[in-house]
Amino acid sequence: MSRIVYVNGEYLPEEEAKISVFDRGFLMADGVYEVTSVLEGRLVDFAGHMARLKRSLAELDMAMPVTDAELEAIHRRMVADNGIEEGLVYMQITRGAADRDFAYPEGATPSLVLFTQKKALIDSAAAKAGLRVATLPDLRWKRRDIKTVQLLAPSMAKMAAKAQGKDDAWMVDEDGFVTEGSSNNAYIVTKAGTIVTRHLSNDILHGITRKAVLSFAREAQMKVEERPFTVAEAQDAAEAFITSASSFVTPVVEIDGTALGDGAPGPVARRLREIYVAESRKAAV
Ligand code: PLP
Repeated sequence: MSRIVYVNGEYLPEEEAKISVFDRGFLMADGVYEVTSVLEGRLVDFAGHMARLKRSLAELDMAMPVTDAELEAIHRRMVADNGIEEGLVYMQITRGAADRDFAYPEGATPSLVLFTQKKALIDSAAAKAGLRVATLPDLRWKRRDIKTVQLLAPSMAKMAAKAQGKDDAWMVDEDGFVTEGSSNNAYIVTKAGTIVTRHLSNDILHGITRKAVLSFAREAQMKVEERPFTVAEAQDAAEAFITSASSFVTPVVEIDGTALGDGAPGPVARRLREIYVAESRKAAV
């Protein structure tokens, strides 16, 4: 059975959905997106995703095409119509269709597209085994805090990591500090037990999962430092992990061929994953 997708006011089988070839999302990556996870048919941290969406739109002078209540209702209907118990809702807003020009068009109608993906988020093989990552130069632009659909640089990094037989890429800035994963925030846990992750700035995406996980860690009396860390510091760490809406908290067990600790998922990552899943189940709407 084909999925039902949402395109500009219509709920359609995916084969029937259409977007203009002049859409600036297609021509210029002039669009932003959000991915919200679904647990037990309910949306995880929806308010957080909507807050970041509005920030991304504001940074690009783009309008919200529907009201907050409408957008929430569309998310809910997508979950219901596609029978999503566990998985993801992808939502994209572009500036819409207009004659191709580098200047933002006046009066273009933004495009709004949503689709769903069924995915086992809790029972994940990656969470059990841990990820092996390769570090690669961060080739992205300088506004990584805006969640735009221009994802070719992280996609190239992921392919380069896969070519090395690894699971994912950690991207590294010109000064040798890790920025984040190809589609997730990156953390290490020092041998003294401190969780370290890069501080918020234009260099990284302000992860919604990051915010929740850091707050759970602090509530559990874990020590957190938000600062840059090098690849060498990461390779010397007791453990490492990533966070994102689609991976929750997932351990990293190897960086550029160096195993961390005993090479198995570490206790801090495992505990934070348990807390995150339990709290998200409770708070999902
Ligand atoms: N960093 C990047 C580059 C991402 O693409 C993502 C998610 O797509 C994240 C971090 C994690 O963000 P969130 O926790 O909001 O999913």
